[in-house]
Amino acid sequence: MQIITTKQALQQAVENCKKANQTIGLVPTMGALHEGHASLVRRAVEENDVCFVSVFVNPTQFNNKEDLAKYPRNIERDAELLRGIGAQYVFAPTPEEMYSAEEMNTTFSFDFNGLDAVMEGKMRPGHFNGVVQVVSRLFYLVQPDRAYFGEKDYQQLAIIHHMVERSSMAGTFGNLQIIGCPIVREESGLALSSRNERLSAEEKQTALGISKTLFASLEWAKEQGATVAAVQQRVIDAINAINGLEVEYYEIVDQTTLLPTDSFNHAIGCVTVYCGPVRLIDNIKY
Ligand code: AMP
Repeated sequence: MQIITTKQALQQAVENCKKANQTIGLVPTMGALHEGHASLVRRAVEENDVCFVSVFVNPTQFNNKEDLAKYPRNIERDAELLRGIGAQYVFAPTPEEMYSAEEMNTTFSFDFNGLDAVMEGKMRPGHFNGVVQVVSRLFYLVQPDRAYFGEKDYQQLAIIHHMVERSSMAGTFGNLQIIGCPIVREESGLALSSRNERLSAEEKQTALGISKTLFASLEWAKEQGATVAAVQQRVIDAINAINGLEVEYYEIVDQTTLLPTDSFNHAIGCVTVYCGPVRLIDNIKY
């Protein structure tokens, strides 16, 4: 496995793969890798001749400086995990290698068709601009045949689908296929997240209340006369009733448009909860 830190070396590696007619799978990550990431990488290794994994804590998608500073980083451990899975290339650039000073300091503009106006987009202004900025740059540099994203970040996945649909009309990313992968959870139900590393043992126990409530809500939705609005409120109340948890939002929306819906058909519930100072996200499909 080769660790690459410059765009130039990355493009050279990509060129070599293309010359050899190898298919390329890409898994973009911010590192501090866990089994959730590993599931994406395993799939990319299986389905492509060559697998590239990027490990880059993208500063332009953080609207909170403290969150950026505290984001866990451990490239040695990440590299070990990726080597074990069989990834061929890791791209781990510095922010300065990825962006010019101007790019770093101006909001990347993009037409989200409203997908950024709800949930994470509403709470973290500019977050998805940074996501689209970094992902489109990675697509441009790596020219993958397939790129893998987790459903854990459901809104991000929806936005990337939209971005690729729009740009494939213009032919930018060729036949790039976006592959969404299911959420990997601990046996306890807690969705794996790099941010879990910041939870104390006690907070981790408390955080179980999030997935437990989401799973329970699948049953609530089946109760006679259950409405989306009532289930949505019941989830918020149940999580807020747990000492140490505070809901930022819980929205049950259509899986494609991310717009509010009054039917459980094709619906997904997306939640963000503060567990102490740590912001956790999760979701459930109805
Ligand atoms: P991140 O490093 O948090 O930016 O995540 C990189 C990729 O891994 C994203 O596509 C995430 O959605 C995905 N991912 C993170 N956690 C999980 C998980 N628990 N299950 C599945 N995919 C995940």
